[in-house]
Parts: sequence; C-alpha cells; structure tokens
Amino acid sequence: MKNEQMAAYLTHYRGRPLRLMEVCGTHTSVLYRSGLRGMLPAQVAMLSGPGCPVCVTPTAYIDRLTELSLTPGVCVLSFGDMLAVPGSKLSLAGARARGGRVGFFYAPEQALKIAAKEPKTCFVLAAVGFETTAPVWAVLAETILQQGIQNVRLLTALKTMPLAMDALCETGDIDGFLCPGHVAVVSGSESFRPLADKWKKPMVVGGFTPELLLRALCRLLREAGERHSGVWNEYPAYVRRDGNSKAKAVVARVFETGPACWRGLGVLAGSGLYLRGKYAALDAGSGALYDDRAPEGCCCGKVLTGALTPQQCPLFGKACLPEHPVGACMVSSEGSCRITYLERGDSL
Ligand code: SF4
Ligand code: SF4
Repeated sequence: MKNEQMAAYLTHYRGRPLRLMEVCGTHTSVLYRSGLRGMLPAQVAMLSGPGCPVCVTPTAYIDRLTELSLTPGVCVLSFGDMLAVPGSKLSLAGARARGGRVGFFYAPEQALKIAAKEPKTCFVLAAVGFETTAPVWAVLAETILQQGIQNVRLLTALKTMPLAMDALCETGDIDGFLCPGHVAVVSGSESFRPLADKWKKPMVVGGFTPELLLRALCRLLREAGERHSGVWNEYPAYVRRDGNSKAKAVVARVFETGPACWRGLGVLAGSGLYLRGKYAALDAGSGALYDDRAPEGCCCGKVLTGALTPQQCPLFGKACLPEHPVGACMVSSEGSCRITYLERGDSL
C-alpha cells in the first residue's frame, strides 16, 4: 500500500473499538509529531506504555544514587535525563545542590575517561535501560574488568521488556501492541512470539520514521480489528527474527536475570538484569531496590500501564510541568507526560 492509501485506511477505520499500546517512548513522540495520533478515529485509543527506562525506575534506585552521591569520595555519573527524576526525598539535582557529587555523560564509554582523570574517586555509573542499552553496559563491564579499572562501579536498573508486556496483558484490556523497534533490533521479532501465542494478540514491530510508523499502525489496526494474533515485523531493514546474536551473547556473559521493580507494575520476577558473580565487585548495591514512593497525587504508575492518559492526572499541566516535574514521566524526553505536554500544551 502507498502512504496515501495507508493514511486513508487509518482515518477511515470503522472496525471494532480498540485499545492499542505503543510501548516505546520514541514511538509516542513520533506519533504526536507526525500527526499520526491525530489521524486515528475516535474508536481507536492509543495508550503509552512502560517503554521509557527513566520513567519505570522506582524511587529506591534514585534514593540509592543520591545516597552514594553524598558519600565522601564518591561521584555519581548518569545520563542527563536522570538528574531531575524525583526520589522519595531528593533528586540527583537536589543532592548536588546539597553538596553531592553528580555528573552526567552522553555515552557510558565517556564515563571511563572521566574516571581516569580522578583515580582516587569512586565513580558510580547509573546503568539504566532495556535490551537496547544492556549490551553497551555489558561491554563496559568487560572492559573495566579486563583493564583492571579500580574506581568505577555500576548501579544497574536494567530491564527486559517481554515480562512487562506480559504483566500488562494480564492486568489490562489491551488489544494489541506496537512493539519497541530498538529493543527488537537486539532481541529479535520472535522474542514477542510467546506473548502473542499466550495472550492471542497481535504484536507489530515498528520503526521510527512517520512512514514506518504509519505502516506498523495500519498493520496493527488490521490485525487487532480482526482479532488476529501473531508477530508482524514492519521494521525488517533493522530487525531480524532472532535479533543480534553478538549483543545477546555479551549480555548473557555479563548479566543474569533477577526480579526488578517497574513503576506501575511492581516487582516482576526475571525482568531485571544483574551483574554475574564474576563482576560482583563492580556492583554498587543494585539488588532489591524495590521501594517506589510516588509523590502525592502523582499518577505515573497508572499512566505507564495505560490505565490513565497523562491528561487524566490531576497534576498534569498544573503542579507538574516540564520545568518543575512532579513525576518521572514529565522528566524524560521519552516520558509520555512530557511528550504529551510539549506536543499538546497549547491546546490544554
Ligand atoms: S530504548 Fe529504544 S525502543 Fe526502548 S524505549 Fe527507548 S527508544 Fe524505544
Ligand atoms: S502529570 Fe506528572 S505527576 Fe502526573 S502522571 Fe504525569 S509525571 Fe506523574
């Protein structure tokens, strides 16, 4: 089908009402920016899912980072997005204002260069992410061990997506998923097959340009509308059935699975990645960081599971704004509240 035909298919869909979820924060952003979200008919609800690693990280993890940053001789380094995420008491930016040492990096490898300049300081790297970034952290851990680097530790909050989607299928009434494209590049489109088989839903892997997303949305509408189940790869230029075997191998060498806490979904067994015994000395205390204390009135947990839209949170656009976020979903560039506010702010 040509783009115009696909666009017409989308706008003129008159099938059964559907609740569909885009799991990935970048998809949320492209859906708004391209105008595709606005083209969907009223009976198709597009929900944002738990696809932003910053948004799903519980406050216990932020608390551990802030505590470390306030420890003499320790400096915490993270992606810039993490700095404003609220912990139960402080954000990293707040800890820095109280004298904590906090810096940021654009890519994890950069952190090793920063650490090499200060051998007497222990640098703790905030290793958050999904299947996409786990291989980068795995390579970094191997490098640290091989090079005998003594002053770098990792605080990991790495998660894998299928178990979160499984939990969403169990609790929610979602008719089909737009699966995260970058995750699928590593894990492969077939990684969603067990979910499709178990829950009898369509799983469509989509790319990130408006054209690719339009194609994936049309596929999802068609298959969900007909109550079909299965996996469709609409991002074949980058996603293979079995993913990237080298990336999966390095992750398996360095990490093992364990329970992880997802905001809105709670603790999901086997959904976290933790350093294996060989790398234990690099770990800065990543285990059992399960506590999650949302600020009063914050509905991030419900937004991340599709139970509420960002606009249904009473704080949205009032107490919670990009310049002073109350919840994590207003902080991250992949957070659905932030994206919704920035893209729809003028129509509030
Ligand atoms: S890592 Fe990639 S696939 Fe995952 S949420 Fe971010 S942009 Fe989406
Ligand atoms: S508007 Fe703010 S407080 Fe409400 S769910 Fe979104 S991020 Fe959380």
